[in-house]
Amino acid sequence: MDCIFCKIINKEAPSEIVYQDEKILAFKDTEPKAPVHLLIVPKKHIPSIDYLRKDDMKLIGELCLVARKLAREYKISVNGYRLIFNIGRDAGQTVDHLHLHLLGGRKLPWA
Ligand code: 5GP
Ligand code: ZN
Repeated sequence: MDCIFCKIINKEAPSEIVYQDEKILAFKDTEPKAPVHLLIVPKKHIPSIDYLRKDDMKLIGELCLVARKLAREYKISVNGYRLIFNIGRDAGQTVDHLHLHLLGGRKLPWA
Protein backbone atom coordinates (compact mmCIF):
# COMPACT_ATOMS: atom_id res chain seq x y z
CA MET A 1 0.00 0.00 0.00
CA ASP A 2 1.35 3.40 -0.96
CA CYS A 3 0.83 5.18 2.35
CA ILE A 4 3.54 7.57 3.56
CA PHE A 5 2.58 7.13 7.22
CA CYS A 6 2.70 3.31 6.91
CA LYS A 7 6.18 3.76 5.41
CA ILE A 8 7.20 5.94 8.37
CA ILE A 9 5.76 3.35 10.79
CA ASN A 10 7.66 0.55 9.01
CA LYS A 11 10.84 2.69 9.01
CA GLU A 12 10.88 2.66 5.20
CA ALA A 13 10.73 6.48 5.25
CA PRO A 14 12.52 8.83 7.64
CA SER A 15 10.83 10.85 10.36
CA GLU A 16 11.64 12.50 13.67
CA ILE A 17 9.96 10.09 16.06
CA VAL A 18 9.00 11.53 19.44
CA TYR A 19 7.01 8.63 20.90
CA GLN A 20 6.31 5.00 20.12
CA ASP A 21 4.67 2.01 21.69
CA GLU A 22 3.11 -1.22 20.47
CA LYS A 23 0.14 0.48 18.78
CA ILE A 24 1.04 4.15 18.34
CA LEU A 25 3.76 6.29 16.74
CA ALA A 26 4.21 10.07 17.07
CA PHE A 27 6.56 12.17 14.96
CA LYS A 28 7.21 15.78 13.98
CA ASP A 29 5.24 17.26 11.10
CA THR A 30 7.61 18.22 8.26
CA GLU A 31 5.64 21.42 7.60
CA PRO A 32 4.91 22.66 11.11
CA LYS A 33 2.02 25.11 11.46
CA ALA A 34 3.04 26.02 15.03
CA PRO A 35 6.23 25.85 17.17
CA VAL A 36 5.06 22.42 18.33
CA HIS A 37 3.36 20.35 15.61
CA LEU A 38 3.32 16.62 16.16
CA LEU A 39 1.36 13.86 14.45
CA ILE A 40 0.09 10.96 16.52
CA VAL A 41 -0.88 7.94 14.47
CA PRO A 42 -2.08 4.40 15.06
CA LYS A 43 0.28 1.80 13.59
CA LYS A 44 -2.81 0.11 12.15
CA HIS A 45 -3.82 1.64 8.81
CA ILE A 46 -7.22 3.30 9.23
CA PRO A 47 -7.94 5.89 6.48
CA SER A 48 -9.69 8.40 8.76
CA ILE A 49 -12.07 8.76 11.69
CA ASP A 50 -14.82 8.14 9.15
CA TYR A 51 -13.62 4.52 8.89
CA LEU A 52 -13.57 3.88 12.63
CA ARG A 53 -15.10 0.69 13.98
CA LYS A 54 -16.27 0.01 17.48
CA ASP A 55 -13.15 -2.12 18.02
CA ASP A 56 -11.01 1.02 17.52
CA MET A 57 -12.62 2.98 20.36
CA LYS A 58 -9.85 2.27 22.85
CA LEU A 59 -7.17 3.16 20.32
CA ILE A 60 -8.59 6.67 19.86
CA GLY A 61 -8.58 7.21 23.61
CA GLU A 62 -4.96 6.09 23.67
CA LEU A 63 -4.04 8.58 20.91
CA CYS A 64 -5.48 11.35 23.11
CA LEU A 65 -3.52 10.17 26.14
CA VAL A 66 -0.29 10.15 24.10
CA ALA A 67 -1.13 13.71 22.95
CA ARG A 68 -1.64 14.75 26.56
CA LYS A 69 1.70 13.23 27.60
CA LEU A 70 3.54 14.92 24.70
CA ALA A 71 1.88 18.28 25.46
CA ARG A 72 3.40 18.03 28.93
CA GLU A 73 6.81 16.99 27.59
CA TYR A 74 6.83 19.90 25.12
CA LYS A 75 5.65 22.27 27.89
CA ILE A 76 2.56 23.53 26.09
CA SER A 77 -0.05 22.09 28.43
CA VAL A 78 -0.19 25.13 30.72
CA ASN A 79 -0.79 27.68 27.94
CA GLY A 80 -2.91 25.28 25.92
CA TYR A 81 -2.83 23.27 22.75
CA ARG A 82 -5.11 22.00 20.01
CA LEU A 83 -5.85 18.48 18.83
CA ILE A 84 -7.22 18.08 15.30
CA PHE A 85 -8.48 15.22 13.18
CA ASN A 86 -8.98 16.31 9.57
CA ILE A 87 -11.50 14.09 7.82
CA GLY A 88 -11.82 14.23 4.06
CA ARG A 89 -10.95 16.83 1.43
CA ASP A 90 -13.04 19.78 2.65
CA ALA A 91 -11.31 19.50 6.03
CA GLY A 92 -7.91 19.47 4.32
CA GLN A 93 -7.00 15.82 4.87
CA THR A 94 -4.05 15.10 2.59
CA VAL A 95 -2.74 11.84 4.08
CA ASP A 96 -5.29 9.03 4.21
CA HIS A 97 -3.91 7.39 7.34
CA LEU A 98 -5.70 8.52 10.50
CA HIS A 99 -3.61 11.05 12.43
CA LEU A 100 -4.12 13.38 15.34
CA HIS A 101 -2.43 16.78 15.02
CA LEU A 102 -1.03 18.23 18.25
CA LEU A 103 -0.44 21.97 17.84
CA GLY A 104 0.82 24.46 20.36
CA GLY A 105 3.44 26.99 21.36
CA ARG A 106 1.52 29.99 20.04
CA LYS A 107 -1.97 31.46 20.11
CA LEU A 108 -4.16 29.43 17.78
CA PRO A 109 -6.96 31.51 16.27
CA TRP A 110 -10.11 29.59 15.42
CA ALA A 111 -10.76 28.90 11.68
P1 5GP B 1 -3.66 16.37 6.98
O1 5GP B 1 -3.64 17.59 6.10
O2 5GP B 1 -3.88 15.10 6.19
O3 5GP B 1 -4.56 16.47 8.16
O4 5GP B 1 -2.21 16.31 7.61
C1 5GP B 1 -1.14 15.68 7.03
C2 5GP B 1 0.09 16.26 7.65
O5 5GP B 1 1.17 15.40 7.37
C3 5GP B 1 0.48 17.65 7.11
O6 5GP B 1 0.53 18.58 8.18
C4 5GP B 1 1.83 17.42 6.45
O7 5GP B 1 2.71 18.49 6.65
C5 5GP B 1 2.32 16.15 7.11
N1 5GP B 1 3.15 15.31 6.28
C6 5GP B 1 2.92 14.95 4.98
N2 5GP B 1 3.88 14.13 4.54
C7 5GP B 1 4.73 13.94 5.59
C8 5GP B 1 5.93 13.18 5.75
O8 5GP B 1 6.41 12.50 4.85
N3 5GP B 1 6.53 13.24 6.97
C9 5GP B 1 6.02 13.98 8.02
N4 5GP B 1 6.70 13.95 9.17
N5 5GP B 1 4.90 14.71 7.89
C10 5GP B 1 4.26 14.68 6.70
ZN1 ZN C 1 -1.14 3.88 6.31
